[in-house]
Amino acid sequence: MEVLLHAALFLATLAAMEGVAWVTHRYLMHGPLWFLHASHHRPHEGWFEWNDLFGVLFAVPSIVLIWFGTHGTPALLWVGLGMTAYGVAYFGFHDVIVHRRLPLRVAPKSRYLRRIIQSHLIHHKTHERDGAVSFGFLYAPPPERLTRK
Ligand SMILES: [Zn+2]
Ligand SMILES: [Zn+2]
Repeated sequence: MEVLLHAALFLATLAAMEGVAWVTHRYLMHGPLWFLHASHHRPHEGWFEWNDLFGVLFAVPSIVLIWFGTHGTPALLWVGLGMTAYGVAYFGFHDVIVHRRLPLRVAPKSRYLRRIIQSHLIHHKTHERDGAVSFGFLYAPPPERLTRK
């Protein structure tokens, strides 16, 4: 039974993180934290972006949860691992597949991947804080709905 509970916690956290990422991206990164996120919307030199700090910030709660999960509260381990899994999936999709920050050529054929790639490219049509659409990463509504906005 416990196995099921832990699996449910892991999957629920993974799904909830897309919501957390959407809200953070929509209201903080394209809001008061734009000074960090702008580095991701504008041309720049070098590999590093100030925007990468968000990855470091999100790693902190996952590490804390995993620590508590391995020191007495096993359920928290699965929440921490769900957050970590979201981070890995986010990096693979956003940094490797869409922005090609690693020297890998990935040409996704799946309809799902093509849809979320297109949706993120629509997000990058603007280089400013305001007026952007499509703040999700691993989930996206149909592109027709995004371009209408
Ligand atoms: Zn953005
Ligand atoms: Zn991007």
